[in-house]
Amino acid sequence: MNAAEDRHDLRADADELRRLAEKAGRELEDAPALEILRWAVGTFGPRFCVTSSMEDAVVAHLASRVAPGVDVVFLDTGYHFPETIGTRDAVAAVMDVNVITLTPRQTVAEQDAEYGPRLHDRDPDLCCALRKVRPLEEGLRGYDAWATGLRRDESPTRAGTPVVGWDERRGKVKVSPIARWTQGDVDAYVAEHGVLTNPLLMDGYPSIGCAPCTRRVLEGEDARSGRWAGRGKTECGLHG
Ligand code: SF4
Repeated sequence: MNAAEDRHDLRADADELRRLAEKAGRELEDAPALEILRWAVGTFGPRFCVTSSMEDAVVAHLASRVAPGVDVVFLDTGYHFPETIGTRDAVAAVMDVNVITLTPRQTVAEQDAEYGPRLHDRDPDLCCALRKVRPLEEGLRGYDAWATGLRRDESPTRAGTPVVGWDERRGKVKVSPIARWTQGDVDAYVAEHGVLTNPLLMDGYPSIGCAPCTRRVLEGEDARSGRWAGRGKTECGLHG
């Protein structure tokens, strides 16, 4: 039986899901992104979603070709650039996807009152835990599998990203259908399909996170070097 033939009960237990993910990761390593997504949609149905930071809508676009109306989960930390919120709204308006916005338990004002202002400057790991990691964990509870736009060429920390893997922290299957793509592949797909992208990508921000923790990137720097620059932090914890 190959990965595409696995059609499991959607409420499979964690061990079974892990085995399924590892097997699919091996079998789909060389598969095109659409085939990887077909496997995910065929295997998990409505218990599969796409997550998007609204840097671009490439994975959402790919998934909508396989599953029109697919859930696209966006994490609104309260610290996003207006352009990112605008991209989210445009995706919801024009694409055949169901955008779901997750929010932290506390507003920024409530967090400031409890922890003091600008927690992101003093303890970005705690800020990310409160505003990203916990809300995503809660938001993904209704799914067995989630897709990301992670790519191996983005940074050394992402070089080993499997196309299908096991998300130990959340006990879910993690699908990265464009893990093997290069920035050139993304650019070509965007141009061919007229995919929505965040306007900040054309303004010196090749990687876009929360406004207080993202700066423009200088020529020759890697794409994610503008994230938490100078703070010794490279990931928010969503993908750790
Ligand atoms: Fe807070 Fe910065 Fe993390 Fe956003 S990226 S949640 S502002 S520390």
